[in-house]
Amino acid sequence: MIKRRIPKRSANDLPKLLAKAQKIFNEYIRLRDQSAGCISAYCGGEVEHAGHYFNQGHHSKVRFDELNVNGCCVQCNFFEHGNLIRYRQGLVMKYGEDRVKILEAQAAGMKKWDRVELLALIQHYTQKVKELK
Ligand SMILES: [Zn+2]
Repeated sequence: MIKRRIPKRSANDLPKLLAKAQKIFNEYIRLRDQSAGCISAYCGGEVEHAGHYFNQGHHSKVRFDELNVNGCCVQCNFFEHGNLIRYRQGLVMKYGEDRVKILEAQAAGMKKWDRVELLALIQHYTQKVKELK
């Protein structure tokens, strides 16, 4: 008797999908911001990471928000705890105060991303990455 393994569409694959979506989203952000340099105001560093303004753990609602995530250097992302004051300054310089305030208003609260949303995100950003490469 041959037992076939049928992949279960359970909640178990959500963390994997979430990780996959984050990976391709971050890659898109790094490619998008490569020439602009680190988001932190007056840093001028090379884009090495995709850095969140609102962290993904406590602000899952905006974890895939293109305004909330920007290319930044390792120094600003880790060693200065995200360097949030200069990150905000950089955001304002890039997008304008009004859009940053809208982001800040939207950032509160959590969101559970479901399968369908994550699959759509993965497809969308895989395409966008292809376009930029
Ligand atoms: Zn920097």
